[in-house]
Amino acid sequence: NFFNQYFLDYTGLSFEELKDDGMLKIIFPEDLEKDLELWHHSLKTGEDFIMEKRLRHHDGTYRWHLSHAIAQKDEQGNIIGWIGSNTEIEEQKIKEQQKDEFISIASHEMRTPLTTAKAYIELLLLSLTEENQNALYATKAKHAVQRLHDLVAELLDASKIQNGQLNYNITTFDFNKMVDETIENMQLTAKNHIIRKTGIALQRITGDKDRLQQVLINLLSNAIKYSPKDDKVFVNVEEQSGEIRVSVQDFGIGMSRKHLDKIFDRYYRVEEHAGHFQGLGLGLYLSSNIIQRHKGSMWADSELGKGSIFCFALPV
Ligand code: ADP
Repeated sequence: NFFNQYFLDYTGLSFEELKDDGMLKIIFPEDLEKDLELWHHSLKTGEDFIMEKRLRHHDGTYRWHLSHAIAQKDEQGNIIGWIGSNTEIEEQKIKEQQKDEFISIASHEMRTPLTTAKAYIELLLLSLTEENQNALYATKAKHAVQRLHDLVAELLDASKIQNGQLNYNITTFDFNKMVDETIENMQLTAKNHIIRKTGIALQRITGDKDRLQQVLINLLSNAIKYSPKDDKVFVNVEEQSGEIRVSVQDFGIGMSRKHLDKIFDRYYRVEEHAGHFQGLGLGLYLSSNIIQRHKGSMWADSELGKGSIFCFALPV
């Protein structure tokens, strides 16, 4: 009723009136508030309203639907009404859930043999001297296994987020020190780039240090990965009105602005990049989720051929 009232207040319509055959009835979703926020945002800005919800059919079964509403505007740009559709997406949803389940099981099962392989390669390296040709092969194998390990970890984290099982280990720590250490570590492996930090954050932060470090590593490795022809990465840290703000800027290939609102989605990759750079399209999805869980926000700006800047803000 609350939801219907909203439709009534703002559009003069209600879900009851929208259904013409008595097929659909809205149920009370747990995250109603979030949906209302989305709807409110659309009403204010005139942006498309997109929502996925389970709706009850007349036979009592619940099925997933995609609701999509587009604002109709007059010549002055005032919203004069909305045109919307409800499309049943139950089958796609089931397939998506099966895919997620498979990824979750597969990545979980891959972890143990990968850890074992990593440990044996380390042992093998210990038994070989540097001049030995086999040491080179073992080092290459080590890097490949590490890469595989990182990919599996990304998949596993993404599955955990989907299932609400990503655990956080909250402590109070020196944020600035964490940033310095992370940059120092990244600089050791990034041979072709110089990472320069400006600014400082003096306040300590309460949060999951490892997860926040993971965000920074993601942004730094993207900045390096997507700027193959440039050698600068700038990191800025500052405190501003009760927040710590971090930005990571590169001068690489960038992307056109139309991608900016999608790059934080799961598996989203800019099409033109996908053929040339490895990745799963999960790093930014994980990062923005981690920042949201810390009650912070994350955003980006980019220009094709000029570079990108990724920022996040955390409350202190
Ligand atoms: P991936 O593993 O593909 O890098 P991410 O989630 O980290 O996944 O990034 C999503 C997409 O956003 C990337 O595939 C890339 O197209 C784009 N992207 C991310 N960071 C940058 C950057 N610094 N410069 C240009 N494009 C970027």
